[in-house]
Amino acid sequence: MASRKDTILKAAQRTAKQAHSAATQRRKKPSSRVNVDPHRHCSVCWKPISLESDPPICGDGDCVRMYERREKSRKRFSFIMYLGIAVFVGMLVVQIYMGASG
Ligand SMILES: [Zn+2]
Repeated sequence: MASRKDTILKAAQRTAKQAHSAATQRRKKPSSRVNVDPHRHCSVCWKPISLESDPPICGDGDCVRMYERREKSRKRFSFIMYLGIAVFVGMLVVQIYMGASG
């Protein structure tokens, strides 16, 4: 009976110790991240670049080309999207107009 109580007590103490060490380790971590300057990353290769970089790329030839290609497809996509909305709105207007007159 007593030995069983002992084991439980020891286990509890061990768990408490583990929790304590985990807590202290967690507390230590953030201090190493304080010194990192604010920065952004190249949108192609994720290399750290200066905060003022515009466009947000590192200046590497491959990254510039990749960024331009992406920008082009993005512009085309938004153009198609606006075109779709315009067509939708136009059809809506026509339907309302037809309904009102007919
Ligand atoms: Zn890059």
